[in-house]
Amino acid sequence: MESIIKHLVEITGHRDHDLLNISVISALGELTRAERARALDIVAVGKQIFIQPQITIKNGKVVTADDPQDSLQAGEAITQYPDLELGLAQHSNLIEGLTEDGKRVVWLPIWINDKVNTCLEIINPASYTQNTMEVMEGILIVYRNFQNLLDYSERDSLTGLLNRKTFDDNFSKVLRATTQQHNGGESEEGNAERRNHEPEKQHWLAVLDIDHFKRVNDQFGHLYGDEVLILIANLLRSSFRPSDRLFRFGGEEFVILLRSTTQEDAQHIFDRFRINVEQHHFPQVGKVTVSVGFARIDPFEPAVAIMGRADQALYFAKSNGRNRTCYYDSLVESGDLHAERSNDTAEFF
Ligand code: GH3
Ligand code: MG
Ligand code: MG
Repeated sequence: MESIIKHLVEITGHRDHDLLNISVISALGELTRAERARALDIVAVGKQIFIQPQITIKNGKVVTADDPQDSLQAGEAITQYPDLELGLAQHSNLIEGLTEDGKRVVWLPIWINDKVNTCLEIINPASYTQNTMEVMEGILIVYRNFQNLLDYSERDSLTGLLNRKTFDDNFSKVLRATTQQHNGGESEEGNAERRNHEPEKQHWLAVLDIDHFKRVNDQFGHLYGDEVLILIANLLRSSFRPSDRLFRFGGEEFVILLRSTTQEDAQHIFDRFRINVEQHHFPQVGKVTVSVGFARIDPFEPAVAIMGRADQALYFAKSNGRNRTCYYDSLVESGDLHAERSNDTAEFF
């Protein structure tokens, strides 16, 4: 009993999805004395479903998949786990199965509004009595409610995208992951070598603003304006990977954190989105376009400086025809923008 309360205190003490997941799978792993416990992301890519392990606990050790390299892979196809696939299709709350080597597995999908984004997995539970099951169910209810509450405070109510307040947390997380990528694994020399020769995968920040949005409101009314914001948010969700982060920054301005890709791909991905919007038919309103400015995320710089660059690129796109995607470094190279000296970043504070 004491240990259950300890776990509940731990679970509800977090304001962060990852930490919440870690504490809930530690609790379930300990409670069932499992060999291994994982939190899996359930990701739909087109019509196929994949699972991506986010957190694994084995022998009391926590491994998180925050390595940005991982985000490139969609994970394992769910068809490799027929028991899980069937259970999800039946909307089960608890699915039992066997691993390839005959170990018992329990899957606990977290259903929120009839959708599942996270599934907990317990491998080879040693203690699996009626009593542990009941306690487990109780923990899951607390977990689900808490997950909902977190979502509610992190998201913008009109579009469901992450809100501006969440940006700061996510931004520092992405920076941390980039810094680890730079420092971890290889020697400094190896890193320097790679920096010089291969196009490096980096993180990117884009600011996106709807063109002449005032006209939409003036011509069709605020409700149609809101509808356009919702449709653009949906287009964003279907155009970017789950590992990227999408924010509504306020009004008709959106921010995208694009993880782990080359400069060429970043340009291509942002511009492809711009074209998607241009080609989309918005009911009643017709055509809408967006302008995008983006900048490379330098993990050793303050967020405001990076934001400032993306904003300058956006401003350039706005004053040069709109419906464009502009990259800060290219504009500086071509002489269209002048790089500010690093001590000028103070003006953004
Ligand atoms: P530009 O191409 O230069 O960006 O022109 P714009 O008209 O989009 O830019 P401006 O910033 O002048 O106007 C933005 C408008 O967005 C002002 C406001 O009426 C509208 N807006 C801001 N938030 C909301 C919202 O939540 N819903 C709706 N419907 N409109 C909003
Ligand atoms: Mg604006
Ligand atoms: Mg605008």
